[in-house]
Amino acid sequence: MTRESKYLEPSKEIDVYGEFDVVVVGGGVAGFPAAIAAARNGAKTLIIERFPYFGGTATASLMANINGFRNQKEPDYLQTTKGIGEEVILRLIEARGTGKSPYPAKTTYTDAKGDLSYAFAIDTEKFKYVVLKMVKEAGVHILFHTYFSDVIMEGEAVKGIIIENKSGRQAVFGKTIIDASGDGDVAFRAGVPFWQTVKDEAPRLNDCLMYKVTGFPENHDIHGCQYGNTMVLWGPNAGARNAADADELTDGEIKVRLAVYDDLEEKKKEMPDLQDAWIVETGPLMGVRQTRFIEGLYKITGDDLLEGRRFDDSIAMGSNPIIRFYGYRRFLEHEGYEIPYRCILPKKVDNLLVVGRCMSSDQRAYESWRAMAHVMPVGEAAGTAAALCVKQGVKPKQLDVNALQKRLLEQGAEIGQQGAEIGQQGAEIGQGREKS
Ligand SMILES: Cc1cc2nc3c(=O)[nH]c(=O)nc-3n(C[C@H](O)[C@H](O)[C@H](O)COP(=O)(O)OP(=O)(O)OC[C@H]3O[C@@H](n4cnc5c(N)ncnc54)[C@H](O)[C@@H]3O)c2cc1C
Repeated sequence: MTRESKYLEPSKEIDVYGEFDVVVVGGGVAGFPAAIAAARNGAKTLIIERFPYFGGTATASLMANINGFRNQKEPDYLQTTKGIGEEVILRLIEARGTGKSPYPAKTTYTDAKGDLSYAFAIDTEKFKYVVLKMVKEAGVHILFHTYFSDVIMEGEAVKGIIIENKSGRQAVFGKTIIDASGDGDVAFRAGVPFWQTVKDEAPRLNDCLMYKVTGFPENHDIHGCQYGNTMVLWGPNAGARNAADADELTDGEIKVRLAVYDDLEEKKKEMPDLQDAWIVETGPLMGVRQTRFIEGLYKITGDDLLEGRRFDDSIAMGSNPIIRFYGYRRFLEHEGYEIPYRCILPKKVDNLLVVGRCMSSDQRAYESWRAMAHVMPVGEAAGTAAALCVKQGVKPKQLDVNALQKRLLEQGAEIGQQGAEIGQQGAEIGQGREKS
């Protein structure tokens, strides 16, 4: 297939599926909290997702370890993820959907509200179930098996999207669009500037196939995410490639899927407790760690994280280590860093918020905040912001950030120092800063 050849697609009239206040593209750990938050804040919300369940990497790629719920700074460890991210875990615990993470916290916690552990292994099936219930309960309109394929622009504003599914090609209009596709598909089509890691400058994190095994002893020494008698292992790497390119994504999938049984044989040498284990599942999508990063109004940097820099427009907190640059499990030396609202506001394009693993960031910072416990609160902030924009009749870049922060605090989110200051002015953030 020559990439240079072109075909002029004839224009045609298509149906309008609907008009919504907020349209969320992608139902991963960034997208579903965004949809829930938007709907809970009164917005008529649609979420589209190519798979028939939510979770994205967490479920479709079997990334069964969610970490980063609290910092590790002694003595007052702070739970840096609250709000919807915490709610998901609490409901998962209630549904007996958590297992044993390979990354335990230094201290033990009760795993009650406000006292969550650092990391959780999840039963990916229970996760699908719990999250679907939460999205339904919030009153979000859901379209599964639906692929985002293009944007509807008016000048530099996104007015809607084009979707493809069994019903054909249709248009959807939305007052605010949230790109939670992980790869920044909407932003890319809308013309938002973006960057992708250049191999020689800062190698991108590898894509890798996670796989689930069973058939190991009750007492074992296996590094994986355990749920009952199943264990998810980090499997073969696809190498440095660009998973936002269809051919490279396919090549990567072929490589890891052909390597998966050899990978288990290798692991058996390192971890003898796997001797009798066999593979029971691989997800439909290899784990894609990073592709495009948008250029936003602010690009969060590794230095911001290391210094624990404060931002007036903070919407979430993170505290995960930056393993590849600063050592394995070396936690940051402060209580956590803040993530500014401007990181999800793309340059050049209006009516669009971009959340998840493609938000505006440099490589070092990304390697910390990409943890799912950090991605969920940013999604919640985006959904809340989108709903407030609709209520106030403003664009995301015009939104009063203070009003957004107050709303997030009312929802029980943790947003850092700014939250503490707002709390002193009378809102109910105080709880967010307590030792937990
Ligand atoms: C191998 C691997 C190991 C990891 N290890 C950990 C770990 O131990 N702990 C941890 O906390 N985090 C870990 N992470 C990071 C974490 O999983 C991700 O950063 C996070 O899941 C990203 O969430 P997201 O919602 O931004 O993107 P995604 O999970 O990619 O979700 C995007 C969603 O959008 C949908 N979508 C995409 N394009 C379209 C389209 N065009 N139309 C419709 N739908 C679309 C996808 O189907 C998906 O559901 C790991 C990631 C990988 C890949």
